[in-house]
Amino acid sequence: MTSHAFATSGNYCPFIPVFGPPQVMFERGSGTELWDVDGKRYLDFLCGIAVTSLGHSNSVVTAAIAEQAATLMHVSNFFANPVATETAVLVDQLLGGGGQVFFCNSGAEANEAAIKLARKFGGRGRHTVVSALGSFHGRTLAALAATGQPAKHEPFQPMPQGFKHVVFDDIAALDAAVDASVAAVLLEPVQGEGGVIPASQEYMKFAEKICHERGVLLMIDEVQTGYGRTGTWFGFEHYGISPDVVIMAKAMGNGMPIGGIWAKKEVASVFKPGDHGSTFSGTAIATSAARATIKEMQRLNAPQMALEKGALLTSLVQALPQVVSVRGRGLLLGVELAEGIDAKEIQLQLLKNGLVTNAVTGTALRLAPPLTVTEVEIREAVGIIAAALAGVRS
Ligand SMILES: *Cc1c(COP(=O)(O)O)cnc(C)c1O
Repeated sequence: MTSHAFATSGNYCPFIPVFGPPQVMFERGSGTELWDVDGKRYLDFLCGIAVTSLGHSNSVVTAAIAEQAATLMHVSNFFANPVATETAVLVDQLLGGGGQVFFCNSGAEANEAAIKLARKFGGRGRHTVVSALGSFHGRTLAALAATGQPAKHEPFQPMPQGFKHVVFDDIAALDAAVDASVAAVLLEPVQGEGGVIPASQEYMKFAEKICHERGVLLMIDEVQTGYGRTGTWFGFEHYGISPDVVIMAKAMGNGMPIGGIWAKKEVASVFKPGDHGSTFSGTAIATSAARATIKEMQRLNAPQMALEKGALLTSLVQALPQVVSVRGRGLLLGVELAEGIDAKEIQLQLLKNGLVTNAVTGTALRLAPPLTVTEVEIREAVGIIAAALAGVRS
Protein backbone atom coordinates (compact mmCIF):
# COMPACT_ATOMS: atom_id res chain seq x y z
CA MET A 1 0.00 0.00 0.00
CA THR A 2 2.84 2.38 0.78
CA SER A 3 4.49 1.99 -2.62
CA HIS A 4 2.33 4.67 -4.16
CA ALA A 5 2.24 7.00 -1.17
CA PHE A 6 4.54 9.49 -2.86
CA ALA A 7 4.29 8.22 -6.41
CA THR A 8 4.23 11.76 -7.79
CA SER A 9 7.47 12.68 -6.03
CA GLY A 10 9.62 9.63 -6.77
CA ASN A 11 8.92 8.25 -3.27
CA TYR A 12 10.75 11.21 -1.76
CA CYS A 13 8.57 12.52 1.07
CA PRO A 14 8.00 16.21 0.39
CA PHE A 15 6.17 16.79 3.69
CA ILE A 16 7.52 17.82 7.07
CA PRO A 17 6.92 14.56 8.93
CA VAL A 18 4.37 15.64 11.54
CA PHE A 19 1.80 13.04 10.48
CA GLY A 20 3.79 9.81 10.28
CA PRO A 21 3.97 7.74 7.12
CA PRO A 22 0.68 7.72 5.16
CA GLN A 23 -0.73 4.28 4.41
CA VAL A 24 -2.68 5.02 1.25
CA MET A 25 -2.82 7.72 -1.38
CA PHE A 26 -6.44 8.56 -2.14
CA GLU A 27 -7.33 10.03 -5.47
CA ARG A 28 -11.10 10.29 -5.66
CA GLY A 29 -14.22 10.10 -3.51
CA SER A 30 -17.97 9.94 -3.94
CA GLY A 31 -20.44 9.69 -1.09
CA THR A 32 -19.11 7.12 1.39
CA GLU A 33 -16.65 5.68 -1.15
CA LEU A 34 -12.98 6.46 -1.77
CA TRP A 35 -10.61 5.15 -4.43
CA ASP A 36 -6.84 5.03 -4.10
CA VAL A 37 -4.34 5.64 -6.91
CA ASP A 38 -4.46 1.93 -7.83
CA GLY A 39 -8.23 2.12 -8.29
CA LYS A 40 -8.98 0.11 -5.15
CA ARG A 41 -12.30 1.02 -3.51
CA TYR A 42 -12.78 1.78 0.21
CA LEU A 43 -15.70 2.71 2.44
CA ASP A 44 -14.86 5.83 4.41
CA PHE A 45 -16.02 5.41 8.00
CA LEU A 46 -13.78 8.21 9.25
CA CYS A 47 -14.75 11.08 6.91
CA GLY A 48 -11.54 13.04 7.27
CA ILE A 49 -12.31 12.85 11.00
CA ALA A 50 -15.94 13.95 10.96
CA VAL A 51 -15.43 16.45 8.13
CA THR A 52 -17.12 15.17 4.96
CA SER A 53 -20.45 14.58 6.68
CA LEU A 54 -22.45 14.92 3.45
CA GLY A 55 -20.16 12.46 1.69
CA HIS A 56 -17.25 13.03 -0.66
CA SER A 57 -17.75 15.34 -3.64
CA ASN A 58 -21.30 16.11 -2.56
CA SER A 59 -22.90 17.49 -5.71
CA VAL A 60 -24.73 20.36 -3.96
CA VAL A 61 -21.62 21.61 -2.16
CA THR A 62 -19.43 21.07 -5.23
CA ALA A 63 -21.81 23.08 -7.42
CA ALA A 64 -21.96 25.89 -4.85
CA ILE A 65 -18.16 26.12 -4.68
CA ALA A 66 -17.80 26.01 -8.47
CA GLU A 67 -20.37 28.74 -8.94
CA GLN A 68 -18.85 30.92 -6.22
CA ALA A 69 -15.35 30.42 -7.62
CA ALA A 70 -16.61 31.83 -10.91
CA THR A 71 -18.41 34.74 -9.22
CA LEU A 72 -16.33 36.11 -6.33
CA MET A 73 -13.76 34.25 -4.25
CA HIS A 74 -12.57 36.87 -1.81
CA VAL A 75 -12.71 40.49 -0.75
CA SER A 76 -11.09 42.13 2.27
CA ASN A 77 -12.95 42.41 5.56
CA PHE A 78 -13.01 46.16 4.90
CA PHE A 79 -16.06 45.11 2.88
CA ALA A 80 -19.01 42.76 3.26
CA ASN A 81 -20.03 40.00 0.89
CA PRO A 82 -23.50 38.47 0.65
CA VAL A 83 -22.34 34.86 1.04
CA ALA A 84 -20.63 35.33 4.41
CA THR A 85 -23.52 37.45 5.63
CA GLU A 86 -26.13 34.83 4.74
CA THR A 87 -23.96 32.06 6.20
CA ALA A 88 -23.56 33.92 9.50
CA VAL A 89 -27.33 34.34 9.71
CA LEU A 90 -27.80 30.62 9.04
CA VAL A 91 -25.30 29.68 11.76
CA ASP A 92 -26.97 32.04 14.21
CA GLN A 93 -30.38 30.54 13.40
CA LEU A 94 -29.05 27.00 13.98
CA LEU A 95 -27.98 28.17 17.43
CA GLY A 96 -31.34 29.70 18.28
CA GLY A 97 -30.67 33.29 17.20
CA GLY A 98 -29.55 36.34 19.17
CA GLY A 99 -25.85 35.74 18.65
CA GLN A 100 -23.03 36.78 16.37
CA VAL A 101 -20.48 34.84 14.36
CA PHE A 102 -16.76 35.13 13.57
CA PHE A 103 -15.46 32.95 10.74
CA CYS A 104 -11.95 31.50 10.55
CA ASN A 105 -10.21 28.61 8.84
CA SER A 106 -9.89 25.74 11.32
CA GLY A 107 -10.83 24.34 14.70
CA ALA A 108 -7.65 25.51 16.39
CA GLU A 109 -8.17 29.02 15.06
CA ALA A 110 -11.75 28.98 16.28
CA ASN A 111 -10.54 28.02 19.77
CA GLU A 112 -7.95 30.82 19.62
CA ALA A 113 -10.74 33.28 18.89
CA ALA A 114 -12.82 31.91 21.77
CA ILE A 115 -9.88 32.09 24.19
CA LYS A 116 -9.17 35.70 23.22
CA LEU A 117 -12.85 36.53 23.58
CA ALA A 118 -12.87 34.95 27.06
CA ARG A 119 -9.81 36.99 28.10
CA LYS A 120 -11.33 40.24 26.86
CA PHE A 121 -14.59 39.33 28.61
CA GLY A 122 -12.93 38.45 31.93
CA GLY A 123 -10.39 41.28 31.95
CA ARG A 124 -6.95 41.43 33.58
CA GLY A 125 -6.56 39.00 36.48
CA ARG A 126 -9.56 37.02 35.38
CA HIS A 127 -8.23 35.33 32.30
CA THR A 128 -7.92 31.62 33.11
CA VAL A 129 -9.56 29.08 30.83
CA VAL A 130 -10.51 25.82 32.54
CA SER A 131 -10.65 22.75 30.29
CA ALA A 132 -10.69 19.00 30.80
CA LEU A 133 -7.96 16.40 30.90
CA GLY A 134 -8.17 14.24 27.80
CA SER A 135 -9.63 17.11 25.79
CA PHE A 136 -8.46 18.23 22.37
CA HIS A 137 -8.73 21.81 21.19
CA GLY A 138 -6.10 22.09 18.44
CA ARG A 139 -2.39 22.45 17.75
CA THR A 140 -1.70 26.19 17.77
CA LEU A 141 -0.06 27.31 21.01
CA ALA A 142 -3.07 28.59 22.95
CA ALA A 143 -5.36 25.82 21.67
CA LEU A 144 -2.62 23.34 22.60
CA ALA A 145 -2.35 24.90 26.07
CA ALA A 146 -6.11 24.40 26.47
CA THR A 147 -5.76 20.79 25.27
CA GLY A 148 -5.68 18.58 28.36
CA GLN A 149 -2.89 16.27 27.22
CA PRO A 150 0.36 17.11 29.05
CA ALA A 151 2.45 14.86 26.79
CA LYS A 152 1.54 17.05 23.81
CA HIS A 153 2.72 20.15 25.72
CA GLU A 154 6.08 18.79 26.79
CA PRO A 155 8.20 19.36 23.65
CA PHE A 156 6.91 22.93 23.34
CA GLN A 157 7.33 24.32 26.84
CA PRO A 158 6.87 26.95 28.00
CA MET A 159 3.14 26.88 27.23
CA PRO A 160 1.13 30.12 27.24
CA GLN A 161 -0.11 30.96 30.74
CA GLY A 162 -3.68 31.05 31.93
CA PHE A 163 -4.89 27.48 31.46
CA LYS A 164 -6.05 24.98 34.05
CA HIS A 165 -7.07 21.36 33.50
CA VAL A 166 -9.53 19.30 35.51
CA VAL A 167 -10.53 15.64 35.44
CA PHE A 168 -13.26 15.26 32.80
CA ASP A 169 -16.77 14.62 34.05
CA ASP A 170 -15.77 15.25 37.69
CA ILE A 171 -18.18 17.77 39.22
CA ALA A 172 -16.18 18.41 42.40
CA ALA A 173 -12.99 19.08 40.42
CA LEU A 174 -14.76 21.60 38.20
CA ASP A 175 -16.37 23.25 41.22
CA ALA A 176 -12.96 23.69 42.87
CA ALA A 177 -11.28 24.97 39.70
CA VAL A 178 -13.71 27.74 38.85
CA ASP A 179 -12.41 30.48 41.13
CA ALA A 180 -12.15 34.27 40.77
CA SER A 181 -9.28 33.95 38.24
CA VAL A 182 -11.43 32.07 35.73
CA ALA A 183 -12.87 33.69 32.61
CA ALA A 184 -14.26 30.61 30.89
CA VAL A 185 -14.89 26.88 31.05
CA LEU A 186 -14.15 25.13 27.75
CA LEU A 187 -15.61 21.64 27.19
CA GLU A 188 -16.34 19.13 24.44
CA PRO A 189 -19.77 17.44 24.75
CA VAL A 190 -18.10 14.24 23.54
CA GLN A 191 -14.33 14.11 23.87
CA GLY A 192 -13.46 13.08 20.31
CA GLU A 193 -9.68 12.73 20.14
CA GLY A 194 -9.72 11.72 23.82
CA GLY A 195 -11.43 8.43 22.90
CA VAL A 196 -15.06 9.28 22.03
CA ILE A 197 -16.14 9.88 25.62
CA PRO A 198 -19.48 11.66 26.13
CA ALA A 199 -19.88 14.01 29.10
CA SER A 200 -22.61 13.05 31.55
CA GLN A 201 -25.85 14.97 31.79
CA GLU A 202 -25.15 16.02 35.40
CA TYR A 203 -21.69 17.32 34.50
CA MET A 204 -22.79 19.56 31.65
CA LYS A 205 -25.73 20.89 33.67
CA PHE A 206 -23.41 21.60 36.58
CA ALA A 207 -20.92 23.37 34.29
CA GLU A 208 -23.72 25.59 33.01
CA LYS A 209 -24.93 26.31 36.55
CA ILE A 210 -21.60 27.35 38.06
CA CYS A 211 -20.63 29.35 34.97
CA HIS A 212 -23.89 31.22 35.28
CA GLU A 213 -23.57 31.75 39.05
CA ARG A 214 -19.92 32.84 38.91
CA GLY A 215 -20.10 35.05 35.82
CA VAL A 216 -17.88 32.71 33.81
CA LEU A 217 -18.35 31.92 30.11
CA LEU A 218 -19.43 28.42 29.14
CA MET A 219 -17.64 27.67 25.87
CA ILE A 220 -18.48 24.44 24.06
CA ASP A 221 -16.02 23.03 21.53
CA GLU A 222 -18.26 21.56 18.84
CA VAL A 223 -15.50 21.21 16.25
CA GLN A 224 -15.99 17.42 16.06
CA THR A 225 -19.53 17.11 17.41
CA GLY A 226 -21.19 19.97 15.52
CA TYR A 227 -23.26 19.97 12.34
CA GLY A 228 -25.46 17.00 13.03
CA ARG A 229 -22.75 14.46 13.86
CA THR A 230 -24.17 13.39 17.24
CA GLY A 231 -27.85 13.41 16.23
CA THR A 232 -28.55 17.05 17.10
CA TRP A 233 -27.25 20.11 15.26
CA PHE A 234 -24.75 20.65 18.06
CA GLY A 235 -23.74 18.17 20.76
CA PHE A 236 -24.63 20.50 23.64
CA GLU A 237 -28.32 20.25 22.67
CA HIS A 238 -28.44 16.74 24.15
CA TYR A 239 -27.90 18.34 27.56
CA GLY A 240 -30.46 21.14 27.36
CA ILE A 241 -27.80 23.73 28.16
CA SER A 242 -27.25 27.17 26.71
CA PRO A 243 -23.56 27.93 26.05
CA ASP A 244 -22.22 31.48 25.78
CA VAL A 245 -19.74 30.55 23.04
CA VAL A 246 -19.87 27.69 20.51
CA ILE A 247 -16.71 26.69 18.63
CA MET A 248 -17.06 24.97 15.25
CA ALA A 249 -15.11 23.76 12.20
CA LYS A 250 -14.60 20.27 10.69
CA ALA A 251 -17.94 19.39 8.99
CA MET A 252 -18.94 23.02 8.54
CA GLY A 253 -17.80 23.19 4.89
CA ASN A 254 -17.93 19.46 4.09
CA GLY A 255 -14.19 19.54 3.40
CA MET A 256 -13.71 23.21 2.57
CA PRO A 257 -11.49 24.61 5.34
CA ILE A 258 -13.73 26.81 7.48
CA GLY A 259 -14.29 27.26 11.19
CA GLY A 260 -15.93 29.81 13.38
CA ILE A 261 -17.27 30.83 16.73
CA TRP A 262 -20.76 31.88 17.66
CA ALA A 263 -21.26 33.96 20.80
CA LYS A 264 -24.23 35.43 22.56
CA LYS A 265 -24.49 39.08 21.55
CA GLU A 266 -23.64 40.50 24.97
CA VAL A 267 -20.48 38.37 25.01
CA ALA A 268 -19.53 39.00 21.37
CA SER A 269 -19.80 42.74 21.92
CA VAL A 270 -16.72 42.83 24.16
CA PHE A 271 -14.67 42.40 20.96
CA LYS A 272 -14.03 45.80 19.31
CA PRO A 273 -12.66 46.50 15.84
CA GLY A 274 -8.99 45.53 15.83
CA ASP A 275 -9.25 42.99 18.66
CA HIS A 276 -9.23 40.01 16.35
CA GLY A 277 -9.29 39.14 12.67
CA SER A 278 -8.12 36.94 9.84
CA THR A 279 -7.55 37.67 6.16
CA PHE A 280 -9.80 34.77 5.23
CA SER A 281 -12.51 35.42 7.83
CA GLY A 282 -15.80 35.11 5.99
CA THR A 283 -14.15 34.70 2.62
CA ALA A 284 -16.78 34.13 -0.05
CA ILE A 285 -15.42 30.84 -1.39
CA ALA A 286 -15.27 29.13 2.03
CA THR A 287 -18.59 30.47 3.24
CA SER A 288 -20.25 29.36 -0.02
CA ALA A 289 -19.33 25.80 0.97
CA ALA A 290 -20.63 26.31 4.51
CA ARG A 291 -23.88 27.85 3.29
CA ALA A 292 -24.47 24.94 0.89
CA THR A 293 -23.53 22.40 3.56
CA ILE A 294 -25.92 23.87 6.14
CA LYS A 295 -28.81 24.18 3.68
CA GLU A 296 -28.31 20.63 2.40
CA MET A 297 -28.08 19.32 5.96
CA GLN A 298 -31.34 21.13 6.75
CA ARG A 299 -33.04 19.71 3.65
CA LEU A 300 -31.96 16.17 4.55
CA ASN A 301 -32.51 16.62 8.29
CA ALA A 302 -28.95 15.43 8.78
CA PRO A 303 -29.11 15.18 12.60
CA GLN A 304 -32.01 12.72 12.29
CA MET A 305 -29.99 10.69 9.77
CA ALA A 306 -27.13 10.55 12.29
CA LEU A 307 -29.50 9.29 14.98
CA GLU A 308 -31.08 6.58 12.83
CA LYS A 309 -27.90 5.37 11.12
CA GLY A 310 -26.02 5.64 14.41
CA ALA A 311 -28.54 3.38 16.13
CA LEU A 312 -28.25 0.77 13.36
CA LEU A 313 -24.43 0.88 13.27
CA THR A 314 -24.26 0.67 17.08
CA SER A 315 -26.56 -2.34 17.29
CA LEU A 316 -24.73 -4.26 14.54
CA VAL A 317 -21.25 -3.56 15.94
CA GLN A 318 -22.36 -4.20 19.52
CA ALA A 319 -23.45 -7.69 18.49
CA LEU A 320 -19.91 -8.72 17.44
CA PRO A 321 -18.40 -11.10 20.02
CA GLN A 322 -15.04 -9.25 20.14
CA VAL A 323 -16.70 -5.90 20.94
CA VAL A 324 -16.98 -4.98 24.61
CA SER A 325 -19.00 -1.79 24.22
CA VAL A 326 -19.95 0.95 21.78
CA ARG A 327 -19.98 4.49 23.14
CA GLY A 328 -20.62 7.94 21.72
CA ARG A 329 -23.63 9.58 20.15
CA GLY A 330 -25.20 9.52 16.71
CA LEU A 331 -22.52 8.73 14.16
CA LEU A 332 -19.54 9.54 16.38
CA LEU A 333 -18.81 6.15 17.89
CA GLY A 334 -16.02 4.55 19.91
CA VAL A 335 -15.86 0.77 19.63
CA GLU A 336 -14.10 -0.76 22.62
CA LEU A 337 -12.47 -4.07 21.62
CA ALA A 338 -12.06 -7.15 23.79
CA GLU A 339 -8.96 -7.36 25.94
CA GLY A 340 -5.79 -8.21 24.06
CA ILE A 341 -6.98 -6.86 20.71
CA ASP A 342 -4.79 -4.05 19.40
CA ALA A 343 -7.01 -1.39 17.82
CA LYS A 344 -4.16 -0.09 15.65
CA GLU A 345 -3.62 -3.57 14.18
CA ILE A 346 -7.34 -3.89 13.48
CA GLN A 347 -7.39 -0.46 11.86
CA LEU A 348 -4.60 -1.52 9.47
CA GLN A 349 -6.39 -4.79 8.70
CA LEU A 350 -9.63 -2.91 7.98
CA LEU A 351 -7.78 -0.52 5.68
CA LYS A 352 -6.31 -3.47 3.80
CA ASN A 353 -9.83 -4.85 3.45
CA GLY A 354 -11.20 -1.54 2.18
CA LEU A 355 -12.59 0.18 5.27
CA VAL A 356 -11.23 3.48 6.57
CA THR A 357 -11.48 3.89 10.36
CA ASN A 358 -9.15 5.16 13.09
CA ALA A 359 -7.77 3.65 16.30
CA VAL A 360 -8.75 6.47 18.63
CA THR A 361 -7.08 4.72 21.58
CA GLY A 362 -4.98 1.55 21.84
CA THR A 363 -8.13 -0.46 22.44
CA ALA A 364 -10.91 1.42 20.62
CA LEU A 365 -11.82 2.18 17.00
CA ARG A 366 -13.51 5.44 16.06
CA LEU A 367 -16.31 5.18 13.51
CA ALA A 368 -17.57 8.41 11.92
CA PRO A 369 -19.10 7.66 8.51
CA PRO A 370 -20.89 10.37 6.54
CA LEU A 371 -24.36 11.16 7.89
CA THR A 372 -25.57 10.16 4.40
CA VAL A 373 -24.22 6.61 4.79
CA THR A 374 -26.68 4.00 3.53
CA GLU A 375 -27.91 0.92 5.36
CA VAL A 376 -26.22 -1.25 2.70
CA GLU A 377 -22.89 0.50 3.30
CA ILE A 378 -23.27 0.10 7.07
CA ARG A 379 -23.88 -3.64 6.66
CA GLU A 380 -20.91 -3.95 4.31
CA ALA A 381 -18.63 -2.10 6.76
CA VAL A 382 -19.78 -4.18 9.73
CA GLY A 383 -19.06 -7.31 7.66
CA ILE A 384 -15.49 -6.10 7.10
CA ILE A 385 -15.10 -5.35 10.82
CA ALA A 386 -16.55 -8.74 11.79
CA ALA A 387 -14.12 -10.56 9.47
CA ALA A 388 -11.10 -8.63 10.79
CA LEU A 389 -12.07 -9.29 14.41
CA ALA A 390 -12.80 -12.96 13.73
CA GLY A 391 -9.27 -13.33 12.36
CA VAL A 392 -7.69 -12.08 15.57
CA ARG A 393 -6.54 -14.33 18.40
CA SER A 394 -7.68 -12.95 21.72
C1 LIG B 1 -10.21 18.54 15.39
C2 LIG B 1 -10.52 19.31 16.60
C3 LIG B 1 -9.97 20.58 16.85
C4 LIG B 1 -8.90 21.17 15.97
O1 LIG B 1 -9.37 21.48 14.69
P1 LIG B 1 -8.31 21.78 13.52
O2 LIG B 1 -9.18 22.17 12.36
O3 LIG B 1 -7.54 20.53 13.30
O4 LIG B 1 -7.45 22.89 13.98
C5 LIG B 1 -10.39 21.29 17.95
N1 LIG B 1 -11.31 20.79 18.78
C6 LIG B 1 -11.87 19.57 18.60
C7 LIG B 1 -12.91 19.08 19.55
C8 LIG B 1 -11.47 18.78 17.51
O5 LIG B 1 -12.00 17.57 17.34
